[in-house]
Amino acid sequence: MGKKKVDDEAIVSAYAQLGSVWKAAKAVNLCGQTVHERLVRIGKIKPANVFTEDEREMLRKEYTEHRNKGKLDSLAQKMGRTKPFLCRQARAMGLTNAKGFKPYAEKAGSNPYAKFHARVRSLRGDPRKCEICGEDNPSKYYDWANITGDYENPDDYKRMCRPCHRKHDKSRPMLAHLRGAAS
Ligand SMILES: [Zn+2]
Repeated sequence: MGKKKVDDEAIVSAYAQLGSVWKAAKAVNLCGQTVHERLVRIGKIKPANVFTEDEREMLRKEYTEHRNKGKLDSLAQKMGRTKPFLCRQARAMGLTNAKGFKPYAEKAGSNPYAKFHARVRSLRGDPRKCEICGEDNPSKYYDWANITGDYENPDDYKRMCRPCHRKHDKSRPMLAHLRGAAS
């Protein structure tokens, strides 16, 4: 006979005793994703939209490294979650900070801002008005202006006319410094 499959009971009791998917997984010698899926199937834990404390802990440990290597897909797979779901959680936990553009910024000659701005444009369309002063004259230029430095987050941008955009950027010493270094 080959290896005996770990039965549901063993998983449930390990989870009940240890109170953690990851600890239970270690105890029964399975990967966390498998244990998570099994517990979901058995009905011991809720499947979607509930992000457990364990998962939070794991995301806190692994998000930045995976993101910087462009490996969020494999983290999502490992955790049995979708990438957009993980990214939403990471954002809510404050893990998506300015470090996010480091791998791009490090490449000589690359312009991370162009890339992020293109992404915002593709997701949210071309800006045709200013959300600051209310200008919407179609002959004026409008930009997507980043608000807090979370460049990778498409929601961290506002539509602005050029004068408002310039004023906004001047009020942000960090951004001015980075632009100086990039150009
Ligand atoms: Zn304006």
